[in-house]
Amino acid sequence: MIALMKKDRAPGAELVSIPVPEVGPKDVLIKVKAVAICGTDIHIYDWTPYAQARVKPPMIFGHETCGEIVSVGEQVTSFNVGDLIAVETHIPCGKCLQCQTGAQHICEKMAIIGVHTDGTFAEYAKIPAVCCWRLPKDTNPDLGAIMEPMGVAINGALKGEINNKSVAVFGCGPIGLFCLGAVAAWGATRIFAIEPNPTRLNMACQFAPNATFLNPTKDDVVKAVLKATGGRGVEVSIEISGSNQAAKMAFQVLSKRGRVSLVGLYAKPVELEPNDDIIEKEARVFGSAGRLMWQTWWDMQKLLESGKFDPMPAITHRFPLSEFQDALKLAKSGEAAKIILYP
Ligand code: ZN
Repeated sequence: MIALMKKDRAPGAELVSIPVPEVGPKDVLIKVKAVAICGTDIHIYDWTPYAQARVKPPMIFGHETCGEIVSVGEQVTSFNVGDLIAVETHIPCGKCLQCQTGAQHICEKMAIIGVHTDGTFAEYAKIPAVCCWRLPKDTNPDLGAIMEPMGVAINGALKGEINNKSVAVFGCGPIGLFCLGAVAAWGATRIFAIEPNPTRLNMACQFAPNATFLNPTKDDVVKAVLKATGGRGVEVSIEISGSNQAAKMAFQVLSKRGRVSLVGLYAKPVELEPNDDIIEKEARVFGSAGRLMWQTWWDMQKLLESGKFDPMPAITHRFPLSEFQDALKLAKSGEAAKIILYP
């Protein structure tokens, strides 16, 4: 099969021809139908410090995946050949305290598909059955591929109620767009979308048409949000961008007894004013990592079935896997949202 491999501890990646993987007793083998590019893939391709600390080449990367099961290991009872699945990328050990107390998405020995184990930029991939989410047979594989990042947005947003709340979403990359569409569908009364990239801010209009759109390079975001909320601030802040400036603003725009979900990852420490930002307003702060297994997937399924939210406009480009270089270059430009590759 053809696969995109990170061969060396250096920038770049290479298409290689390798044998189809053999499935273990608890795995399934999928024919990869669609795989979306994630920021993590760019880190791995560029060989940033994030990748250097985690990835052990040679390895196939890629992980936001939809595939059809073509064979199952002998101990797999809950999936069958022919099933269409989306891949949950967190591999839980099933034995640690977190796994056994309802938090297997933050397993103490967690491995991530396409980061710690071979990924899915390939014609076929071996996936642990414990990481498979069955999709209705008629699901568009492109939708299946974007459910993993969509789940990041859903998990971050649903750390508390959204209905009838005012919500600020910081960052309108793909996860921010999913978040905006979801909070609009769930009945947020007032939505603020904050993003410095004009292309992305423009896309946000499609996902939450009634939102207020703010560009921090031009607008005084904190002042604008406070003014629009009677000086009280928003009840919910969701920080997805990973920008230090945005993280500070997420607290500054927060109302008393509001809650902040931190979803983005920061390259350096964020300086907050705990007295003003958290203590005196009795803010609640939630870290949000990946997706709850499987609460978030059920939440996503219900949201999609409601017909009130269409995530597909977040897919802006599609390429065959062989054109991965053009696709990754475009992904880095900030001019695309979700990009799908077809092995
Ligand atoms: Zn575990």
